[in-house]
Amino acid sequence: SSIPKIVILGAGYGGVLTSLRLQKELNYNEADVTLVNKHDYHYITTHLHMPAAGTDHPENARVNISKLIDEFKIDFVKSTVVQIRPQDRKVILEDGTLSYDYLIVGLGGESETFGIPGLAEHAMSIRSINSVRLIREHIEYQFARFKREPHRTDYLTFVVGGAGFTGIEFIGELADRIPELCKQFDVDPQLVKIINIEAAPTALPGFDPELVEYAMNVLQKKGVTFRIGTAIKECSPDGVIVGEGEEIKSQTVIWTGGVRGNRLIEEAGFETMRGRVKVDEFLRAPGHDNIFILGDNSLLFNEQGRPYPPTAQMAMQQGVNCAHNLVASIRNQPLKKFAFSNKGTVASLGKGEAIGIAFGRKYKGRVAAWLKKAIDIRYLFIIGGIPLVLRKGKFL
Ligand code: FAD
Repeated sequence: SSIPKIVILGAGYGGVLTSLRLQKELNYNEADVTLVNKHDYHYITTHLHMPAAGTDHPENARVNISKLIDEFKIDFVKSTVVQIRPQDRKVILEDGTLSYDYLIVGLGGESETFGIPGLAEHAMSIRSINSVRLIREHIEYQFARFKREPHRTDYLTFVVGGAGFTGIEFIGELADRIPELCKQFDVDPQLVKIINIEAAPTALPGFDPELVEYAMNVLQKKGVTFRIGTAIKECSPDGVIVGEGEEIKSQTVIWTGGVRGNRLIEEAGFETMRGRVKVDEFLRAPGHDNIFILGDNSLLFNEQGRPYPPTAQMAMQQGVNCAHNLVASIRNQPLKKFAFSNKGTVASLGKGEAIGIAFGRKYKGRVAAWLKKAIDIRYLFIIGGIPLVLRKGKFL
């Protein structure tokens, strides 16, 4: 048929926003839209630090895709993408093949281990519902193990690599969770250590120094030990080696130190930097007018020539722009340039505590924590309207 085929890979922030906008803007039979995702649910990545630490249930960080998209307008395919073949305009799934006229890649990033030996094998990372289920159970299991082998205090040492947003948000939750676990397993809280290791000279590099200091104070009061300006040299089943060869014994290493693009992007032959494609002003892969790359897989630079950090906020705005440009392409209308508008950043530090910058102001403490909640609720509203806010909002 002559109806253009649009295939969207990944139902993350970028893919969901593209789908929602397309189903609203496209006319009946104007295009054939297919959304492919590994799971039949979308996960709210920005909420995953809570179920990872066990301060919330993983259920509250996911939404069924059928509740988000209109399946009369968009075909949803639950499958795993194994290969993208731009030269044939095809996508290979684990159980089939799709051909496309327009492709949107929103497959999200992967953990970047910078080649540090053992990290890929022995550290866990906060990336998906399945990965946080594992971390949550693993943490509890260490308490149970310790009761059987009370000399093994390394069971109670929790190492978090990276003091970026994910690392900081996670240790905030973990510090809240530890007292509960100590009570539950009759463990002396003095024996538990949370050690945050960061190679850069400061936590939250690039963030407002006053807020960073506030965050570190809050977390230190909750019992977190910071090792800033300290690089992890190696990770093994027994723990990590840091700095000049010091060993920190631990059975739990959570790596939050970096994100890179999905390996499928490189494998498809796109030119990449740390797995990301430097997209053009319309979010297209260079040399491919019909391929849009969103979110953690795209690389964009600000006016100072610095790369933007990959965020949900960025992926969402890209999704909106991408849908607009898809509709414009189909209608032979001019495309709109993408321009990121930074609405601010808030990082939670556990219950009732956060730091952030929004509306040109700094926030900390309760107000910032409230702001974080408002951002999360706004997101639920954007993707699922009032019904989703009512179902999930109370858990945030
Ligand atoms: P994702 O949201 O990662 O979605 C990718 C989708 O693709 C997933 O549904 C996945 O299942 C699917 N997929 C992957 N591979 C395949 C495959 N081979 N086949 C089929 N489907 C596949 N950003 C903020 O702006 N604010 C925050 O407060 C914030 N907090 C964060 C806290 C944590 C703990 C983490 C981990 C991240 C946080 N981020 C935050 C970053 C933000 O979550 C990411 O930048 C954002 O999720 C990227 O969106 P995306 O659309 O590129 O991909």
